Amino acid sequence: MAHAKFSLFTGCIIDTPVMGELRILVDGALGIDRSTGRIVGTSESSATPAKELFEQWTGQQVSEDDIETTGLLADQFLMPGFIDTHTHAPQFSFLGIGHDLPLMDWLNKYTFKHESEFKDPELARKFYKGAIDRVIRNGVTFAAYYGTIHLEANRILADTIRNAGQRAFVGKVCMDANSPDYYSESTAESIEQTEEFIKQVLGGQGNCPADTRLVTPIITPRFAPSCSPECLGALGELAKRYQLPIQSHLCENPSEIEFARQCFPECTSYTEIYHKHGLLGNRTIMAHCVHMTAEELVIMRDTGTGISHCPTSNFTLGSGLADVRRFVAQGIPVGLGTDVGGGYTPSILDAMRMAAATNRALIASKRLSGEDLSGRDDVPLEAAEIFFLATQGGARVMGMAESLGSLDAGKLFDALVIDLSAHASPVPSAESTFAISCLSDPVEAWMLRLEQFVFLADDRNISRVYVGGNLIHSKC
Ligand SMILES: [Zn+2]
Repeated sequence: MAHAKFSLFTGCIIDTPVMGELRILVDGALGIDRSTGRIVGTSESSATPAKELFEQWTGQQVSEDDIETTGLLADQFLMPGFIDTHTHAPQFSFLGIGHDLPLMDWLNKYTFKHESEFKDPELARKFYKGAIDRVIRNGVTFAAYYGTIHLEANRILADTIRNAGQRAFVGKVCMDANSPDYYSESTAESIEQTEEFIKQVLGGQGNCPADTRLVTPIITPRFAPSCSPECLGALGELAKRYQLPIQSHLCENPSEIEFARQCFPECTSYTEIYHKHGLLGNRTIMAHCVHMTAEELVIMRDTGTGISHCPTSNFTLGSGLADVRRFVAQGIPVGLGTDVGGGYTPSILDAMRMAAATNRALIASKRLSGEDLSGRDDVPLEAAEIFFLATQGGARVMGMAESLGSLDAGKLFDALVIDLSAHASPVPSAESTFAISCLSDPVEAWMLRLEQFVFLADDRNISRVYVGGNLIHSKC
């Protein structure tokens, strides 16, 4: 059976292709073509024989022997993999430390010092495997990673991710201005080594279609103040030439915004700096965006630039409360980021809870300040909406919404099997949750089970992790 052409999952299947709309197949079926790693079809009922289902989905004759079936247990469900739109692989080296400092002090005391140590490739070789495994255990099937400024350590990071089977964007960090002497590079080094990194990563993966490539290089100016105008302009050109995504930080904290303004006095706003250098677009991920003016949000919307909402890091570094409802109302793509090590955890489930807390705190502070709350501004984000941010919302921010984020036919099978009854599960049983055990409608019951998953679950509940149809992590 290991060589079966197709895989079939039967049981509860949950996703959310549209923000606010949960799609629950209580006893559904989902088929995968193992040769492409793509979903070939879904059915509302698992009662139809597997062979018939695959013949309907593929339009070909299929033998029972070609199908490997996995039946999910009563308290398990299948969902799209989590997408972390912003994290820093080297910063796992000081996870959970320094959260009493504001951004600029935290960068100087911990971040630059620890990242600079990755000039030693041996450290990268020893360290990155554990960090990536930790991210995968937390159910992240696709992540946008920052590396460091060092070419060799970044290559090791990219190889480690590919060997682990995770999907990722990996960025060589660029820092040719306003950076410490021990952790900076010349403009020429920054540009040349970025291009070299692109060639190495793309060259190592043959000519597969861009959406099935596991590791894609991403253009990564650390943040505008750490780059010269020449460097930013050249990075914009590289993104265009190689058709690559871009990531950076934007409007995280007031002193950082002031720093950016001083570095680029000719630009009318922080957002304008990136825009002017050709770095915004529908494949650009801007992290944080806590303190954005109305004009800046218009630029984000008009360019199709996505926002990585990093609520855990925004709380721990005291950066502020980013307003997801405001971004969504503008039509700006929004996903979630863990922002390790500004954030203390690689868990997207924790980021989901922090997104809820941020939203509640914003509503409360607006009410306290007597602000007029109209429209949907005062409606708390629901569990289903937060679930969307962690999956389909993230796929849109990464420019991959056509291929990832939900469990539709034609998409890549990046998915999780969730077990709410796992050993030592923090989620109580459905029987002991009276709000659920009194329900007769199984769809309603699963809606509440999903809410419990969003607010209570952790990596103990993430039973299996699949990327492109391949099992990359399993608890059994
Ligand atoms: Zn960051």
